[in-house]
Amino acid sequence: MTSTVSRESAAFANALDVIAQVEPRVAAAIGQELTDQRESLKLIASENYASPAVLLAMGNWFSDKYAEGTPGRRFYAACQNVDTVERLAAEHARELFGADHAYVQPHSGIDANLVAFWSILAHRGESPALEKAGVKNVDALTEADWGQLRRALGDQRMLGMSLDAGGHLTHGFRPNISGKMFEQSSYGTDPQTGLIDYAALRQRARDFRPLIIVAGYSAYPRLVDFAAMREIADEVGATLMVDMAHFAGLVAGRVLTGDFDPVPHAQVVTTTTHKSLRGPRGGMVLCTSEFAPSVDRGCPMVLGGPLPHVMAAKAVALAEARRPEFATYAQQIVANSRALAEGLLRRGVRLVTGGTDNHLVLVDVGGSGLTGRQAEAALLDAGLVTNRNSVPADPNGPWYTSGIRLGTPALTTRGFVEDELAQVGDLIADVLAATTAEGESKVKYRLDPQVADRVRARAAELLDAHPLYPEISLDLTGRA
Ligand SMILES: *Cc1c(COP(=O)(O)O)cnc(C)c1O
Repeated sequence: MTSTVSRESAAFANALDVIAQVEPRVAAAIGQELTDQRESLKLIASENYASPAVLLAMGNWFSDKYAEGTPGRRFYAACQNVDTVERLAAEHARELFGADHAYVQPHSGIDANLVAFWSILAHRGESPALEKAGVKNVDALTEADWGQLRRALGDQRMLGMSLDAGGHLTHGFRPNISGKMFEQSSYGTDPQTGLIDYAALRQRARDFRPLIIVAGYSAYPRLVDFAAMREIADEVGATLMVDMAHFAGLVAGRVLTGDFDPVPHAQVVTTTTHKSLRGPRGGMVLCTSEFAPSVDRGCPMVLGGPLPHVMAAKAVALAEARRPEFATYAQQIVANSRALAEGLLRRGVRLVTGGTDNHLVLVDVGGSGLTGRQAEAALLDAGLVTNRNSVPADPNGPWYTSGIRLGTPALTTRGFVEDELAQVGDLIADVLAATTAEGESKVKYRLDPQVADRVRARAAELLDAHPLYPEISLDLTGRA
């Protein structure tokens, strides 16, 4: 009897065999990670599952190359094959998103934002900031040095979405370098509707006169009107930068079009490649041609040497995203997110903005007397992986929070459809209803163990119906 082993199974099983020859514990951990991911009902809005082709494109000798510079203009010799993959990735990105220019070297979303900041500063004709500020020891910058630096940059200002409204740390907040480089001000959402208040944003921009207006979010469940944001940016002479790290897959899949597509409206667009875009862990910058020369200097200005193996995987992922199936996938992400929201609303669960138009749902658990931290832990006990998140004007602050963020990109990749997401909504509602805070604690809670068992069992059934990486079996006994 001959058994057929898929190419993917053979590729990964053989790779693990080779690794196990050197350090079997690493091979075992990689294998265990697949098992764990298969058994986990993942609602983390920022995670996904890349295809075997994307994963395999990363595991090879491209990792051995240094390739500082850009295709055809490298500081290292023998980069012809890196040139091929970097050019392909950039070409796919330009075509997919309709951008003038794409820079595919950033190692992550945060790195892509750094490239964008420096490029916007450079574009304004600023000489290197450190030099101008007379700062000598960059390893030990004092608050006074930072003040000098900001003054040298002309008190450069950034207007970004507030953290509790769903903005990201890199949009000018103190724990991130952006909050040191720029004087920051925030815009937020209307307390009644939970939607971005564009009139207030316009007024804030007029008063604050920022160099950069940053749009984009990690936890806002609605559409953003980038055309309106560009109009505001133009009015105050700011550059519009959109960080589409979370929703790039929805842009690629043409779910976000017209005023809601950032690429035709922003001068600079940054993204991760591993969230809804479903590529390798990495980042990317898209921009108009006037910003291209400075964006291309991202390495070595703010980035270490490029990762050619990851650029190869970006090229593969972007080629996948140009296929019609990807548009179907992107539409399904949003249909699933809506079904999840409806399932929760039917059970009386409170959602920030009362619903969703994108890949994520933000649950406000404050009304049930729980913190986000307690809800996150109780859901995890019942086999549902989510993460806690602030809600607007969160009374519990950014650590305990009052919210739970849910996202559908990962489950949609597994093949989940609407009625299953509605059921997941029901399971979440069951767990929240069966969880109570212990006394005044923001951490301790009690979850009815019978409910936890029942939810875990039902979650396992749903997962079994949609196996993750069905083409991969690492158990190759009976290999042909
Ligand atoms: C996830 C995220 C990032 C950071 O991406 P990393 O790859 O983790 O550096 C940046 N901006 C936004 C809006 C994000 O959601």
